[in-house]
Amino acid sequence: MFARPLIVSLALLLSLSGCSVFSSSSQRSPSAVSTKTVKLSLARKYIGHLLWPVPHGSISSQFGQRWSNFHEGLDIRAPEGTPIYAAHAGKVVYSDDGIRGYGNVVAIQGDGLMTVYGHNRRNIVEVGDQVQAGDQIAELGQTGKATGPHLHFETRVKDSSGRNAAVDPLVFFPARAARLNSN
Ligand SMILES: [Zn+2]
Repeated sequence: MFARPLIVSLALLLSLSGCSVFSSSSQRSPSAVSTKTVKLSLARKYIGHLLWPVPHGSISSQFGQRWSNFHEGLDIRAPEGTPIYAAHAGKVVYSDDGIRGYGNVVAIQGDGLMTVYGHNRRNIVEVGDQVQAGDQIAELGQTGKATGPHLHFETRVKDSSGRNAAVDPLVFFPARAARLNSN
C-alpha cells in the first residue's frame, strides 16, 4: 500500500471520501471574517468536549499563518511510536498515505466534526471503523514531510456552504489554550 503513487490534495481526498470539498482559499478570501464566525458558532458545542490526542505531547507549532502557508492544524510533538487517541468519536473515513506531505493519515468524521491525524508511523484503524473518543487510532511518527516526530492534528467543521473548514484545534481545549496564553 505504501508504494501506491497516488497523490491527491486534501480537498480531493475529502470529496473522494464522501465529505464536502474543503477550499483552503476561504482562509484568505475577503469573506474570511464572516466565514470564520459561522464556523465557530457551529463548533461551539464541541468546546471543552474533545480529548487531547497525545496525552503527554506538547505543542510545537500552532494553527495559522506559517511563513508563506496557512498551517491548518496543530503540531503536537512526542516520541516516535507514542499512541495517538481519537479526540472525538466517529467513523473512519480515511486511513492511507495518499495526501501529499502528510504521510499516513487518519480522518474521522464525527457528529458535525471531522478530526484529522497526520505523519503517523502506523495507522491502526481502517475506513469504516467506528471509534470512540480515547480509542487508539495510530502511532505517532514522521511520515511524509516532517522534520521530526509529531502529530499534525486538524479539526474541521462544515461551514454554511457545506465545506469541511479547518478551525483552530485549540478552540476546543480552552484550559490548554489559557495555559499557553499565560506563558
Ligand atoms: Zn502540521
